[in-house]
Amino acid sequence: MVLGQLLQILQKKRTFLPETDELTGGQDLSAHGYDGPIAVSYGFNVSSFFKDYAIPTVEALGEVINEDNSDETPIGGTFQQLSVFPGTYNRPYSANSYLWPNQDRKNLHVFTDSLISRILWNDAEDDLATANGVEYITANGAEVLNAKNVILSAGALHSPKVLELSGVGDPAILESLSTETSRQIFAKPYTETELDVNVFYALKNDSVTIGSETNAPLIDLVPGQQVLSEEDLQISAQLRANKSDDLSDAQYAALQKFFEDGFAQTEINWSLVQQEDGSVKLDFYATDLHTYSRGYVHPNSSDPTAKVTIDPKYLSAEHDLWYLSRAVAYTRNITSTEPLGSIIDSEVTPGVNYSSPEDLQELLRPNFITM
Ligand SMILES: Cc1cc2nc3c(=O)[nH]c(=O)nc-3n(C[C@H](O)[C@H](O)[C@H](O)COP(=O)(O)OP(=O)(O)OC[C@H]3O[C@@H](n4cnc5c(N)ncnc54)[C@H](O)[C@@H]3O)c2cc1C
Repeated sequence: MVLGQLLQILQKKRTFLPETDELTGGQDLSAHGYDGPIAVSYGFNVSSFFKDYAIPTVEALGEVINEDNSDETPIGGTFQQLSVFPGTYNRPYSANSYLWPNQDRKNLHVFTDSLISRILWNDAEDDLATANGVEYITANGAEVLNAKNVILSAGALHSPKVLELSGVGDPAILESLSTETSRQIFAKPYTETELDVNVFYALKNDSVTIGSETNAPLIDLVPGQQVLSEEDLQISAQLRANKSDDLSDAQYAALQKFFEDGFAQTEINWSLVQQEDGSVKLDFYATDLHTYSRGYVHPNSSDPTAKVTIDPKYLSAEHDLWYLSRAVAYTRNITSTEPLGSIIDSEVTPGVNYSSPEDLQELLRPNFITM
């Protein structure tokens, strides 16, 4: 599915409130939905820092200010669209946006305290596997629900478990599980995560007044070509050339194309953080979006209530941590660019002692965050 088709589906779920944008305006109104259950609005009473310093600095770095990243242009600095009700920072969630407005529908049945143990399959005569229901476990034991359509959405850790307990997955795992299933479909489930880190700079006293923002008002999506110097681009190409066996050929080709075509490899979220003494820190939440490491999650027994085995294999591809160190270094380009540069007091973390890629990776190794 291409990005445009995916966005069209997402927009049906949303009600966009463009008038809540205090910073940039100029959204692409045709790229949004207006009848869906999820409210999409912007932060309110946001610090003037973002208009006076953040946006001009992003522009001065030669990046684009992207007035709307919900269309098919997800590059550049954008005022963050949030899945929150306007003026409250309260989130739409499953209950208030999907369940409660529909709970009187006679064809809606919600089963709580019911653990799906496996998907059931038609005894198809051809090679096509068609689900026709699920088996689930309650306090009363195992039950069956027949269905025309089954949508599996048990999250990153449990969807693979349900699939492998249903006969879809890694052949070696399926063999070890000896589950009761009428179908076997071989596939390779894997885990993948972005790598993140917070980078903090102290702002000069009284240079900024914090607003009501709770979430990063500015999101900046940056290609590797912007983050990396010419020399670093060559190092990146060398590191990315080492494809690990954990990565399928198709995924590897897609990652390489993302990078080389200038898709966002880095996300930098800009926030202000008030300190107890009244001073303000600038927080860059810097991300390596497209990591090359792949791990796995599998059921370790045919018991559907048993915990899964997880090995995320973080940092198994050398490019990942190295690239995150370069994203941290890029925040130094940002803070030395005007108009932001003149109100930066100091780098708090990592701190100027961590300068080389090796130093930064040493610091990041025990401190990176995954999402
Ligand atoms: C700390 C954190 C912060 C995040 N922040 C953001 C953010 O700011 N913006 C953003 O876009 N994304 C964010 N994400 C990611 C986002 O939360 C997930 O991508 C999203 O929730 C995934 O939704 P899902 O429906 O696929 O899975 P989940 O939300 O994991 O839902 C799966 C559901 O299935 C249930 N389940 C599992 N197994 C079974 C079973 N066998 N039978 C029945 N039910 C089962 C689980 O109990 C769960 O309720 C964040 C994630 C984390 C962990």
